[in-house]
Amino acid sequence: MFRFREGLEILKGYRAEEGAWRIKLDANERAGRFPAAVEEALRARLAALALNRYPEMSQQRLKGKIAAGLGLKPENVVIGNGSSELLAALCHTFGGAGRKIVVPSPSFSMYPVYCQLADSQPVRVALEDDFTLAPDKVAAAAQDGPASLVLVCNPNNPTGGLTPAAAIEQILRDVDCPVAVDEAYGEFSGQSALDLMAKYPRLIVVRTFSKAYGLAGARVGYAVMAEEIARAVEKVLLPYHVNALSLAAAETVFDLAGEFGPGLAETVAERERLAAGLGGIRGVTVFPSATNFLLFRTAPAAELVQELAAKGIGIRDFSRTPGLAGCLRVTIGTSAENAAFLAAVRDFFQGRCPS
Ligand code: PMP
Repeated sequence: MFRFREGLEILKGYRAEEGAWRIKLDANERAGRFPAAVEEALRARLAALALNRYPEMSQQRLKGKIAAGLGLKPENVVIGNGSSELLAALCHTFGGAGRKIVVPSPSFSMYPVYCQLADSQPVRVALEDDFTLAPDKVAAAAQDGPASLVLVCNPNNPTGGLTPAAAIEQILRDVDCPVAVDEAYGEFSGQSALDLMAKYPRLIVVRTFSKAYGLAGARVGYAVMAEEIARAVEKVLLPYHVNALSLAAAETVFDLAGEFGPGLAETVAERERLAAGLGGIRGVTVFPSATNFLLFRTAPAAELVQELAAKGIGIRDFSRTPGLAGCLRVTIGTSAENAAFLAAVRDFFQGRCPS
C-alpha cells in the first residue's frame, strides 16, 4: 500500500522486552545510584541550563575534555546521540551501495542493521566455538571483500569476551580499510585500543557514557579518529543531534569520572563472584567476561528465563540467536540484585533435579 524505501522490508527493528522488572538485569545498564558528588553536580548543572537556547553546535566543551584526557585534539573527537548514532554514522560514512562492512557474529545485533541502513552489505565473521575472535579471519574477510569498514566489538556483546590488544593490532596491520573498535564496555576490561591511535590512523575507537558512567538515559557516546575521518563523519550527522541536557550531563560526568572508580571495581568483583556462583551450578556453563554482564549456557534456557520473569527478574534471552543456542545474558547489578538472581537460579535447578 505504502511505497516505503527499497530495502526497508529486510530490516529488523531493535526490540527489547520492556517488562516492569523488580530486578532489571537485561540491558547492561549501570547498577545503583550515581555517586553522591556526581548526583549533586548533575542536579546543579542541569538546573542552570538555558533550555531556550540551542545546544553548543560544535560540542567543543565535551570534545575538548575528552581530547585533553587522551592527549589528542578536539578535532579528533565526534560526539553522538549514544554510541549507536556513531556506529550508524560510520556505516553511512564508509558504506553505500555495493560496499561491504565486516562484522563479527554473534555480536551487537545492530551492526548488520546499521550496515543495511547505509545500503551496505554486512559480511559476518563467525567467532570460534569458544567465542574468541580470530584476527586472521577478520583480516581475510576484509581484504577479500574488499571491505570499506571493519567493526569489532571489544569486549564483545553479548559474549563478554575480550580480544587481546595484539589481535586488534594484527587486524589493523593486515587490513587496508578503517577499523572501528566498539569499546562500549571498555571501562570494565582494563584494555583499550586507544593506545594504538598514534600508530594506526585508520583506527576509530567508539565509546559510550551509557554503561560504566550510567548515562544510558541521556544517550551520549563519542568516537576518536583521525581528523580527516571525523570531518567526514560529521557530515552525516544532523545539526544539534545531541541535546543540551545530555551534553551537560556528559560533561559533568566526565569531569567527575574518578568518582566512578570504586563502583567499577565493585562491578568487576561482583561479576567474578556471580561467575563463580553460576559456574558452580550443574547444568550451567559460564563464559569468561571482561564486561558488566555474563553470558551463560544452559539447556533449559527458555524455562529459566520464564521462571525468573515470574519472580520479577529480567535477563536477556539469546537462546534463539544463531550461534548462541541455550545462551542467556545477565547484567551485573547491585550485590543484593545479584544475590537474588543467583538464589532464583539455584532454586530453579533444585526444583528440577531433587537430590
Ligand atoms: N555497542 C555495544 C556493544 C552495545 O552493547 C551497545 C548498547 N547495548 C551500544 C553500542 C550502544 O550503546 P549506546 O547507544 O547507549 O551508547
